[in-house]
Amino acid sequence: MLDTKNYDVVILGSGPAGLQAAIHAVRKKVSVLLLGKETKSSLFHAHVENFCCLFNVKGEDMLHVGRQQAVNFGTELLEEDVLRVSPAGPVFKIITESGQELQTRSLIIATGTTRNKLGVAGEKELLGRGVSYCVECDANFYKGEDVAVVGSASAAVSGALTMLDYAATVHLISEKLEVSDVLGKQLQDSAVMIHQGRQVKQIVGRNSVESIVLKDGATIPVNGVFIELGAKGIMELATHLGVLLDDQMKYIQTNKQMETNVPGVYAAGDVCGPPWQMAKAVGEGCVAGIGAATYARKLARSG
Ligand SMILES: Cc1cc2nc3c(=O)[nH]c(=O)nc-3n(C[C@H](O)[C@H](O)[C@H](O)COP(=O)(O)OP(=O)(O)OC[C@H]3O[C@@H](n4cnc5c(N)ncnc54)[C@H](O)[C@@H]3O)c2cc1C
Repeated sequence: MLDTKNYDVVILGSGPAGLQAAIHAVRKKVSVLLLGKETKSSLFHAHVENFCCLFNVKGEDMLHVGRQQAVNFGTELLEEDVLRVSPAGPVFKIITESGQELQTRSLIIATGTTRNKLGVAGEKELLGRGVSYCVECDANFYKGEDVAVVGSASAAVSGALTMLDYAATVHLISEKLEVSDVLGKQLQDSAVMIHQGRQVKQIVGRNSVESIVLKDGATIPVNGVFIELGAKGIMELATHLGVLLDDQMKYIQTNKQMETNVPGVYAAGDVCGPPWQMAKAVGEGCVAGIGAATYARKLARSG
């Protein structure tokens, strides 16, 4: 085992929430370590055109700039996953995947979420070339095109209704619709072509999406497929610390200061729930970074 390294603030996750948290925390003159892998951020494969003051920027490029900014201000980076976090008196002990042991006065959980996959042929291969997991992010790329939205819950139905403002034709492929009466009525009254009780077997296309094939053998020509099946976060690290999740046990519960119920533990970004958007992630990261640095300074003074 290597020597234990001590920090004021350790941030789990180096996506936009973690990066913004680092930038704000480190400028408060505390020691900050940022853990996590750049390529694992949801932003890495995104093409962003809805973030204020920047237009049409590659997510990968944004992450490079964010990391450089964080480092220039004095953040230490460690491109590793964390395996375990546990309370150790007034501080927290962290074990990384290479076995490094770290200690920190405060902690920010910004580990993001993973979009639920459909798990069909063509989905992975055509990601970013017609396959999307976010109507909110990518609707504008499908002006005048034919698209399919896949899913059964309110996110899929709202997504399909939103797409009517952009696309020429919108198909909703839903195994079994589970939405409120109000949303259901809105859907029935709309121009969305509803395929209830049907499932996608394959997404087809050479360079980009050309069609979807359903399990009943039907082919629907589309240029875009939005997979709206929700997302899941990695909650084991949080729950091991006693951090409370929301009512549906899906996301970390925080107050407006991005404090969890555990003193010294903050959370930010997608791991705190939708909308899964960069603008929300950096806003929450900023608040969490300032809060965690202030907490660490107070603890240092008291100890
Ligand atoms: C294809 C796609 C397109 C998108 N387009 C847009 C868009 O146009 N506009 C927009 O605003 N948003 C868009 N988004 C959403 C946006 O990318 C997310 O909202 C944003 O990245 C969330 O930031 P985050 O920091 O919370 O999480 P993420 O960016 O997902 O970062 C999570 C970080 O946590 C790390 N991590 C996970 N587990 C551990 C662990 N155990 N230990 C240490 N680190 C860990 C990961 O390595 C990663 O660094 C898109 C998302 C996708 C998937």
